[in-house]
Amino acid sequence: MPIFNPEDWKEKIKYPHWYTEVPGVFKELVQLHAENRAEYERVKEQIYDFFEDQLRKGAVALGQTGKNLDAERKPIDTVVIHHTSMKPGLTKERLSGIDLVRLYAPQYAGKGPTYTAHKEIKDRPVYSGHFRDGVQVFWPYHWIVRTGGICERLLEDSEIGWHAGNWDVNCRSIAIVFDNDYENSEPSDVELAAVASLIKDTYPQVLKENIKGHCEINTKTTCPSKNFLSVDNKHPGWREKLVYLYSNVSRR
Ligand SMILES: [Zn+2]
Repeated sequence: MPIFNPEDWKEKIKYPHWYTEVPGVFKELVQLHAENRAEYERVKEQIYDFFEDQLRKGAVALGQTGKNLDAERKPIDTVVIHHTSMKPGLTKERLSGIDLVRLYAPQYAGKGPTYTAHKEIKDRPVYSGHFRDGVQVFWPYHWIVRTGGICERLLEDSEIGWHAGNWDVNCRSIAIVFDNDYENSEPSDVELAAVASLIKDTYPQVLKENIKGHCEINTKTTCPSKNFLSVDNKHPGWREKLVYLYSNVSRR
């Protein structure tokens, strides 16, 4: 039996509890990763294509109302840096489809980190409360930084992004994601300067100590890069470069 059959799923997503079957799919996908890497990549892309497409068509059963989790938003004092860990050029629509199925579905199924607030949403229809032109979006981040240094807005600052794996940090932070895979490398100086200016211009209250990598909030991830933090004195991580640029950028 295939891990993911799009024809079956076209039926499943008509019902509000479709998401309860998502954790099982990803459990099998993880097993496939160990056995057959190429097949894993194919099935993963098939799932992402499906949800991007069905979301665009308005075919996924979602909540039209729900608990307003953004009511828990606190003053912003932290910036958390991420990378997509995918090839550059991720569209906003695809990011929304991916995180509907990777982020929101497991949380609603109760398989993710059990934040206090999230217990109240368990078993309800999936609802982010974030709409753009009448379409619900499932972005975890506030900004995406393109490889050319353009910073594109995703969530509004008043909206909480589910990005850090820590509800308290989510409530207080802005999430900035690099549109690339920097697991073993680093963003260009253009990208780093763009992020430094973005933070200085938009969130000047954030102390440089509070510009953190996702890996500093959640030690189970290496996001945004294995090279983000310094390994030793001879090899400073690119966090240092970012903080240096932030400290030296002139306010526009
Ligand atoms: Zn991350």
